[in-house]
Amino acid sequence: MRVVVNQDLCATTGQCVLTLPGAFRQREADGVAEVCVATVPQALHPAVRLAASQCPVAAIRVIDSNAGDDERAGADHAPFSAKAKRHAAKEQRNPGGHNGTV
Ligand code: SF4
Repeated sequence: MRVVVNQDLCATTGQCVLTLPGAFRQREADGVAEVCVATVPQALHPAVRLAASQCPVAAIRVIDSNAGDDERAGADHAPFSAKAKRHAAKEQRNPGGHNGTV
């Protein structure tokens, strides 16, 4: 999991820092929040989701690291994938799936 703060939206309330100081901090100059971890450790996932849900301006975005896995899985279900073409060809040869044995 990764987390990002849209610093253009951040209203500098500090709520995320109060919720999870291990993942967020505020810039001294202007109070805008920033993320201080490259990747969120598994143990902090619930707290990061809580911080994101509590941000009053929805400036915190959680990015689940398994998004790439979803894309690969989606490709397998894409119309006219190789798998779908093989299935369609099999159906044309043997409609209904009956294999001809009695
Ligand atoms: S909770 Fe939202 S608005 Fe407040 S400091 Fe964090 S990112 Fe900024």
